[in-house]
Amino acid sequence: MTNHATSSNGPNHILTVDVEDYFHVEAFAGTVSRTTWDEYPSRVVGNCRRLLEIFDRHEVKATFFVLGWVAERFPAIVHEIHKRGHELACHSFWHRKVDSLTPAEFRSDTREACDAIENAASVRVSGYRAPTWSITRRSLWAFDVLAEEGFEYDSSIYPIHHDLYGIPGANRYPYVQFCGNGQSLLEFPPATVRIAGMNFPAAGGGYLRIFPLAYTSWVFRQFEKAGKSLVLYLHPWEIDPEQPRLAGPLKSRFRHYTNLHRTQERLEHLLQRYRFVPFRDQLGDRQIPARDGSPARVAATQGGMAD
Ligand SMILES: [Zn+2]
Repeated sequence: MTNHATSSNGPNHILTVDVEDYFHVEAFAGTVSRTTWDEYPSRVVGNCRRLLEIFDRHEVKATFFVLGWVAERFPAIVHEIHKRGHELACHSFWHRKVDSLTPAEFRSDTREACDAIENAASVRVSGYRAPTWSITRRSLWAFDVLAEEGFEYDSSIYPIHHDLYGIPGANRYPYVQFCGNGQSLLEFPPATVRIAGMNFPAAGGGYLRIFPLAYTSWVFRQFEKAGKSLVLYLHPWEIDPEQPRLAGPLKSRFRHYTNLHRTQERLEHLLQRYRFVPFRDQLGDRQIPARDGSPARVAATQGGMAD
């Protein structure tokens, strides 16, 4: 399941997409109320199709962290993502920050999201990514909930200083996260680079768009030299320069709209040069427990093109 990248001897990097619409993002949460989401013209289906076509062209498979709200309204695209051989995972239902929820609210949101995704594609979901990287020191209890709900891995901890998220001292490379309840999950942090003793974000979302491509390429070379897998992420709205413009604070508009017209070209540049796989290819044969505790409904259908 690898692409025809030129870097054939390097590590397999991880390609991920957070499937949400342009009006779901935290940057505009103060402007766009969740109760009005249905009033915005949705562009997520068309943008996902464009991504699927790009990935097909480069013969690469990715992990798609899907917002439950999207899966409930547009189940056909979720089914299509799965049918075209990609991995489905969970990005919450309402895109609320985990550290703004109680454990009970988090559990219920996660279940609602998984139901919507699993109903859309008839697959078992075993990976989680928190909206806005919002598993922080204040919400480490979320790992207990995820493990209890049968998740096998998470990709929510950004090991950086940031005004909205992050755990600055967290590990930069994948590790086993032990939970308070004796269970464990695999944690896959998004890519960072270490400069002068500090971690800096790299290779994903706004960082891929706003920083020069030379910076991203340099980060890739650091990971390749170290033989480590890099976690790259992007959103369907990031390849859509035509999306409607929302009002909001200047900082939000800068983060959201800068270089939207460059994302696709940069993505394709990386897909040509490096090998990418979905998370499932990094998990090995680890058995995935069923959400209800019954003998594993192992995610065999997520391994290939099975419908
Ligand atoms: Zn998100």
